[in-house]
Amino acid sequence: MDVYFGTDYHSHLGTSRGGMAIWNGSCFNRSIHNIENTHFRAKFEAELSKVQGNMGIGCISDTEPQPLTVCSHLGQYAISTVGKINNLDNIAERAFSNLKNIHFLETNKGTINPTELVSVIIDHENSFKDGLLVAQELIEGSCSILLLTPQGIYASRDKLGRTPLIVGKKEGSYCVSLESCTFANLDYRFYYELGPGEIIFLTPEGIEKIAPPRNKMKICAFLWVYYGYPSSTYEGVNVEVMRYRNGAALAKNDNVEIDMVAGVPDSGVGHAIGYSNQSKIPYGRPFIKYTPTWSRSFMPQNQEIRNLVARMKLMPIHALVSGKRLLFCDDSIVRGTQISETVDLLYKCNASEVHIRAACPPIVYICKYLNFSRSRSVMDLAARQAIIQLEGKEPESLEAYCDPATEQYNRMVDCISKRLNLSTLKYQNIHDMIKAIGIGGDKICTYCWNGKEL
Ligand code: SF4
Repeated sequence: MDVYFGTDYHSHLGTSRGGMAIWNGSCFNRSIHNIENTHFRAKFEAELSKVQGNMGIGCISDTEPQPLTVCSHLGQYAISTVGKINNLDNIAERAFSNLKNIHFLETNKGTINPTELVSVIIDHENSFKDGLLVAQELIEGSCSILLLTPQGIYASRDKLGRTPLIVGKKEGSYCVSLESCTFANLDYRFYYELGPGEIIFLTPEGIEKIAPPRNKMKICAFLWVYYGYPSSTYEGVNVEVMRYRNGAALAKNDNVEIDMVAGVPDSGVGHAIGYSNQSKIPYGRPFIKYTPTWSRSFMPQNQEIRNLVARMKLMPIHALVSGKRLLFCDDSIVRGTQISETVDLLYKCNASEVHIRAACPPIVYICKYLNFSRSRSVMDLAARQAIIQLEGKEPESLEAYCDPATEQYNRMVDCISKRLNLSTLKYQNIHDMIKAIGIGGDKICTYCWNGKEL
């Protein structure tokens, strides 16, 4: 039940596949379901009574089906990964030439399943430890791994720690998960957080440290700004607390006159509360998101229908909107489609002004390290569209557009603001966002906003 509920508490991180593998003493009970239209819990509920065992792993995935179960010279194991392997083809070529006549059984939308590729890397070595270390070295991008054996669970955090891995403990049990929000309702307490590249082996007796943490870390800043669940804590910093600090910093740099502060649900809410508390301007909910009947990942290809879906999910409260000057905090502006729909709706309800404050800087680059990203193409990005509109083509360097002190940056923001029909638009600056996280800029990945890899 802990694996079942614990995995379910990661449902905000993926909408495609959910899976669990439980060791029952002689083999793995493994099942994977499509969770595009039905929640993880509902899909697995019927199987629970048939599953026995006291060790397991689970996964919510936006991409390949997982966990995989493997039988190799190292023994039986189940494996699950999170991250993005950018040199998948090179590693596969290496495997084809080194191992001769091997094949990959699983596919991921027509390509090699990245988790199977990781298992092949591991199987090529003489121990799980060596296999996990080689995987860390070979993989470009990022890859955190859970590997369940009949004796225990190996947990390997990706070498730059883009995603967290956190160990919880309760009487008689240990767990390890990306989101520490899983702990409280299952009675676990925080016990240990793996450092970047660290590998541990978790057994009923405790933690065995297999490989030490590395010095360099680049944890994803977006975990705090958007992806992470508010009750999770990474590197000692709680997500909701960071959002309050971040919103407060936005307010300190602002002087707009408004009647109400609101958050774009769900991840804009924490930033907006921080803004409201700092500015002493009341927080309110001028519209509510209606979600019960919309399947979570319903994402029609047709842009017009997508816009319609975005609009139908929002329900304005006329009495709070009419004649009011409203300021919304959103976690970020990716395409801007949703904001544009929201703004139209608010003006139709006679809002007198609509101001947007984004909780992070303009997104100028597509994430290379994680598959959580909401955008797959640079042309999806509102900032890149604005830059092309201003320049007539892709400029050779985007550096000036990442710097709020430049004229180019201000013209870009102005262009996005006009396109979205806003009264004013401001973005959080990178320094205040890093300060709100509070673990030091050198430890945080900010590639989305400035294109800096290390
Ligand atoms: S590029 Fe952006 S989304 Fe990707 S790991 Fe870095 S901060 Fe996170």
